[in-house]
This record gives sequence, structure tokens and C-alpha cells, in this order.
Amino acid sequence: MLALRVSDGKYATERQDRPLCGRPPTENDMNPDIKDSTAIRQMFIDPHAHMISRTTDDYEAMAAAGIVALIEPAFWQGQPRTHVATYEDYLSAILGFERFRASQFGIRHYCTIGLNSKEANDESLAEAVMDILPRFAAKDGVVAIGEIGYDEQTELEDRYFRAQIELAKELELPVLVHTPHRDKKAGTTRSMDVCEEHGIDPRMVIVDHNNEETIDEVLERGYWAAFSVYPSTKMGKERMVRLMKSYGAERVIVNSACDWGISEPLAVAKTAELALSSGVPAEAVHLSCYANALAAYGQSGQISDSHWLTPMEIDQRESFAGNSILRGGREPVVEHHDGRRTPNEAA
Ligand SMILES: [Zn+2]
Repeated sequence: MLALRVSDGKYATERQDRPLCGRPPTENDMNPDIKDSTAIRQMFIDPHAHMISRTTDDYEAMAAAGIVALIEPAFWQGQPRTHVATYEDYLSAILGFERFRASQFGIRHYCTIGLNSKEANDESLAEAVMDILPRFAAKDGVVAIGEIGYDEQTELEDRYFRAQIELAKELELPVLVHTPHRDKKAGTTRSMDVCEEHGIDPRMVIVDHNNEETIDEVLERGYWAAFSVYPSTKMGKERMVRLMKSYGAERVIVNSACDWGISEPLAVAKTAELALSSGVPAEAVHLSCYANALAAYGQSGQISDSHWLTPMEIDQRESFAGNSILRGGREPVVEHHDGRRTPNEAA
């Protein structure tokens, strides 16, 4: 169970009005406004999804499973970029065409902008990327600087992690921290130490890719603890549900981290389903699969539930820079605010 370090004042970030801390929540913890809203209970946010690597089938399935919004962190692409110009085009793509693609399936798309830890090790590329980041980070729909942090915990990774924490502070944006897959526990501790050295409020930092080894310290130190739920390895659904049962949902965030590797775009929705059927209270599921991500990234002022509670219209007749998602004479889906779905309307 959590022993919050509030006594020394250093991490005294827990507010008295938050009842869920340190014990599993119950139905009585529900915010009365939310309690009655079954519709919101069926909505999920996937706050870590590299959709640029995924297909339109994934978007369709995510929308059908209740994903109303997702966040696409800037990351590497499986092989290193060798020119700043390709990095620039990548950032433009996740902020532009990818947002359009998501909208064509009724999903709101947001981004985090940053230089990832792997490519931070190419110093000349990293310097050039750092020069272009402020311009991209200030764009609409950017909800954090990220994902940044350590991979091999090199000197260059450390340098650019720190520089980007400073950028986040300057722009008053949250930070999404990618914790290393090797030497995770030490790397996670070090990431938080560095955040504290730079004086960023833990409430502005989402520490991602946690597991059973790291959750205690991340929560104790007042950070948001995010979990990437993978289909077979690392954190699976079952392990995630066990954590939800023993830790509750205070500052816990579930994501899919789906990308070009073996991963599960429906991980958030499927984890929520398993949690509910395993007896995790609905409020805890709502917090960890929707509301906490909204609260954490909402600190950017760039993501709000008003963006999807007024349903967006889907009109697949639209195009982005002249490009449509439709192929081979396929009928566009046109969905109105009242929920009418008329695939043949445009014909
Ligand atoms: Zn990622």
C-alpha cells in the first residue's frame, strides 16, 4: 500500500479533497456528476498510441470500442532518422494528416512533441531537432513534451532530457517520460530525480511504462503513473487489473503504446472490460482509462472533454491537402451530430 511522503513536505502534492489515495476506491467515491452519466462511463482515452504506424482498421475498431480521444507521442520509427528534415516532416505528419485520419473515424487526436531518447544519441541530429522543437510544441493539440527520458542512460540522453524538461517548463506543458526497458527501476528513479533537480512539479509529469517494480516509488513521489498494456509481454491486462485492485486508480493511467511492433490498439478498452468483470469498481476504471489522462494532459489547456462530448461530425468526403482516406470507389461515411450514420448519403 502507498505510504505517501507528505510528512517532509517535499512531495506534498496530495490534495485533501481526493478520496482515492492509498486504498482501492469504492462506488461511494464517485463524483455524483459522473455517477449518472453512463455514456461517459463507456468512453475511453488512449493516451499513448503511435497511430502513424497503424491502419484504418485499428481506428475503426478503437472508435467502436469507445475510444473518443488519443494522444500520439513523438517517438522513433524503428530505424534512426539521419536528417532533421525527416524529423520535421514526421512531426508535421503526426500534427496534420494523422489528426485528420483520426477525425475521419470520429476520434480526437492530440500529440506530444519531443526528441526521443534513442535519437538523442546522435548529437548533430539532436542539436538540429532541439532547434525546431519549440515551433512544433507551440502548435494546437500539443498536450505535452514527450516522450523523453532514458534508453541506455547515456550522457547525451541525459543532456537532451534535461533540455526538454526546461522547454516544457518554459511552455508550461506537462512532460511524458519514457522509462527505459533495460534497468527500468534505476532508470525510473533517475528520471524522477532529474525532474526534481529541474524543479518541475510532479503533477506535471507522466511517468510511463511502469510495472510492479516502479509503481510504489512513482506514486509515492507524486507523479502520474502510466502503464503500457501489451498483448503478451511486459504489462499484460491481467497484471494491470491486479495493480488496479491493489493500488486503486489515483494517478494511474492505462495506455496501449501501440506502434509498429506487436501491440494492441484496443488495450485500454480490453483492460477496462477485464477490470470491470474482475470486480474493479467502475469509478476506478473510469479514472484509469479516461479521467486521469484527461486531468494530467488537460494541464496543457489543449485537451478538454468538450471536444468530444459535443459529438463531432464524421464526413469521409473531406480531404487533407487533397488526400482522402477513401480508396477504390468506397462510399464515404457521413455521420451527423444526432448519430445518424448514412454511408450512402454522398452518392
Ligand atoms: Zn511510445
